[in-house]
Amino acid sequence: MKNPNDREGATVAAKAGHFLDVHSGAVVPEIQLSTTYARDDRYALINAANLYSRPDNPTFVHAERTLADLENAEECRLFASGMAAIASVFYSLSPGAHVVLPDSMYWGAKQWICDYCRRQDIFVSEYDTADAASIEACVENKNRTNLVWVETPSNPMMHVTDIGLAADIAHQYDALLCVDSTAATPVFTRPLELGADLVVHSATKYLNGHSDVLAGAVLTREEHGLWHALCGEHKMAGALIGAFEAWLLLRGMRTLYVRVERAAQNAMQVAEYLEQHPKIESVSYPGLPSHPGHHLAKLQMQGGFGGLLSFQVQGDASAALKLAGAMQIIISATSLGGVETLIEHRNTLEPAENMIPENQLRLSVGIERVEDLLEDIEQALLQI
Ligand SMILES: *Cc1c(COP(=O)(O)O)cnc(C)c1O
Repeated sequence: MKNPNDREGATVAAKAGHFLDVHSGAVVPEIQLSTTYARDDRYALINAANLYSRPDNPTFVHAERTLADLENAEECRLFASGMAAIASVFYSLSPGAHVVLPDSMYWGAKQWICDYCRRQDIFVSEYDTADAASIEACVENKNRTNLVWVETPSNPMMHVTDIGLAADIAHQYDALLCVDSTAATPVFTRPLELGADLVVHSATKYLNGHSDVLAGAVLTREEHGLWHALCGEHKMAGALIGAFEAWLLLRGMRTLYVRVERAAQNAMQVAEYLEQHPKIESVSYPGLPSHPGHHLAKLQMQGGFGGLLSFQVQGDASAALKLAGAMQIIISATSLGGVETLIEHRNTLEPAENMIPENQLRLSVGIERVEDLLEDIEQALLQI
């Protein structure tokens, strides 16, 4: 199913929001480093949009507008990191609120959210990440559920959650649905079009795409009370992105479509290769028909399944670590979404209670020549 907006998104991204400087003719926006903005002889701001660069900055605003167009959002706010973006959503809740989280999601966010909610008397319940229908049991007996959280595909277990169903359930109970769409990117999924109210991104990952900027974003389908509170946190608590980082992010987003389309094509081939290899126990990639969420992913994701996949090696932790260490082109490092392929043993990083299998490795597949990646994996598998 082809979405008519696909080409539009690629064009908006490539042209950085149809930028052209009418004064200089430049096709690349300037970086505005000024922290303050002058007033005229009657003490009126020379440009009413700019008073002080927390948060009035044309470079932030340009990147925010471009990303808002890619996500079909009304508004966007950029933050200093993905975590700062996620935190702003929770800062906007009141004590006594109730939030519903997936049982398996990006660990850094889960750890911080649960710790923060405990301190703020915000009640947390958990549903089965792979089964959005299980959200209902979390909300039906609460008289006030404020926020339902979805992360799809989830990091690092690659569960797929039905955004449309999660939105229906959330809205039935007057809650907002927020989707962490870091792994999917607006190229493959636009959660706001599927009924979500908010989208968050670690823009550090695919949106910037070059492993050289920390950034986060929150986007909204429409303005509401929580959005206004969030904008207050953005402006006053001030976890803003820097002007240079916003400019780099905008530059990174210009190639978003070609990067993630290539990464997803590569990931598909790597997943198929790993799945048939006798030293591999299992592969979790939503693009594989063997994935339990494949059918849903095909409906929910357009044009590809992303660049992220996890797989389990035959054997124990030492086999997985040995395999990661034997790679020549693929780099062992945390993070994802860059142009270079990274491999990671999440079990080493996450606490035992998260039950990440010890023989599991996560690959963030990049944009290298796929034959080189397959050869690298093949030679590494020969060594274990
Ligand atoms: C990395 C990541 C985050 C956190 O983003 P930072 O930019 O590292 O703060 C949040 N969610 C997901 C899914 C991520 O992969």
